[in-house]
Amino acid sequence: MAEAIQFPPHPYLSSNPDAPKDECGLFGIYGMIDAATLTALGLHALQHRGQESGGIVAFDQDQFHSHRALGLVGDNFNTPDVMDGLPGDMAIGHVRYSTSGDTAIRNVQPLFAEFKFGGLAMAHNGNLTNAFSLRKRLVERGCIFQSTSDTETIIHLIAISEYGRVVERLTDALGQVEGAFSLIALTQKKLIGLRDPHGVRPLLIGRLGDAYILTSETCALDIIGAEFVRDVEPGEIIVIDEDGLTSVKPFAKQASRFCIFEYIYFARPDSVLEGKNVYACRKSIGHELARESHVEADLVVPIPDSGVPAAIGYAEEAKLPFELGIIRNHYVGRTFIEPSDQIRHLGVRLKHNANAAYLKGKRVILVDDSIVRGTTSVKIVEMVRNAGASEVHMRISSPPTSYSCFYGIDTPERDQLMAANMNLEEMRKHIGVDSLAFISMDGLYRAVGEAKRNDDPQYCDACFTGEYPIALTDHQARTEPNLLTLLHESGE
Ligand code: AMP
Repeated sequence: MAEAIQFPPHPYLSSNPDAPKDECGLFGIYGMIDAATLTALGLHALQHRGQESGGIVAFDQDQFHSHRALGLVGDNFNTPDVMDGLPGDMAIGHVRYSTSGDTAIRNVQPLFAEFKFGGLAMAHNGNLTNAFSLRKRLVERGCIFQSTSDTETIIHLIAISEYGRVVERLTDALGQVEGAFSLIALTQKKLIGLRDPHGVRPLLIGRLGDAYILTSETCALDIIGAEFVRDVEPGEIIVIDEDGLTSVKPFAKQASRFCIFEYIYFARPDSVLEGKNVYACRKSIGHELARESHVEADLVVPIPDSGVPAAIGYAEEAKLPFELGIIRNHYVGRTFIEPSDQIRHLGVRLKHNANAAYLKGKRVILVDDSIVRGTTSVKIVEMVRNAGASEVHMRISSPPTSYSCFYGIDTPERDQLMAANMNLEEMRKHIGVDSLAFISMDGLYRAVGEAKRNDDPQYCDACFTGEYPIALTDHQARTEPNLLTLLHESGE
């Protein structure tokens, strides 16, 4: 009889306090003194991609040096003590939205391992969708894991690869993983960067004098005055060493599926990703939203900060005044990352306040980028009504978020997603607005420069459509017990 296979709890279950959460930012630099300081600056610019932990590994002459900590980059990489301990002209760093608690430090990246060929540090943005299945096989072969991070699976696959050279081993390892991954790695001699064959998460190349940079967003180049060279292509591996930059494309070509939510919410508005300025995309979504679902009103008010660019676009198109009718306290972290519902509610009140003089007696159009659980919207609407608004309309610059993301954006399970459980009218009532509208899928695609969404979409939009471009092996194993038995019986 097949024995039960214990899979670790699903990464997105908040009941799993040690769960990997994978909203991340990457920065690596090769060939510049004080590489770690430049990396800390780059990570600071990427702080929006992960605020709970950060780490830097630098290489100097014959030694790797590492510092990893829970908390913000500016709080952890700000003293001579720390920075003097990270010498060298090559370094990689990582910011991450991980879990809090004393066990979380073991998951803070970059991860580091000593292999047959020498040391290697690795930092990952994305989420592997077959990491648990692979991990089970690796553990059965005797591998000892030290973290719950899916990235460690790649480290073990590199270690047991039968190939000789590091890039070949890496290619061999990545040929076995499924999911979304932008990775950077540092060896004694090389800075390596790559994107999964669908290119779900960003990664781009920059230059600062003779030095090369690999990072998630252009805002991390701007902060140190570096130039943008180009995006790393989906499925491309970039190797930077004393011979300069080389590119290899060892994986079978796949359709490009860059995450459309990077444009809606996740990336910083001043970044340019895949040739598109993020702020311009958000404003265009606002224009489309106003064309699709305008309603008579007196003013347009963003839910700060994420709703601001779309609200500017909406107000421009609707020819209405744009007002900061809600003010955000910047000293509170993102509401969404608080662990419990109770604290999340509290967080919303801590974070936003109504600018009542601008709302009283007004018909207000509130604009936000997305509704996930609906917590933010419910609280904000109540606050705007209490401030005396005569009508409150809500416009959302993404389609309804009806499906969880398995590729590196932290979203709750479907049962907690408002749009997965209510229709539009139910959502309107629940939020307490006079009208509610979301951008249409075609409107969203138009805003990012496509004629419409077709059957072979250029982006990953699984959180809105449920069309997952990459297999969800672990998730299926978890939700389909028969598959577990099959996997086990076939000896996999
Ligand atoms: P909720 O209150 O659960 O509906 O969350 C919606 C708010 O969270 C919106 O204002 C978004 O700006 C923000 N948000 C959406 N997705 C994420 C995410 N993956 N991480 C953090 N914040 C998010």
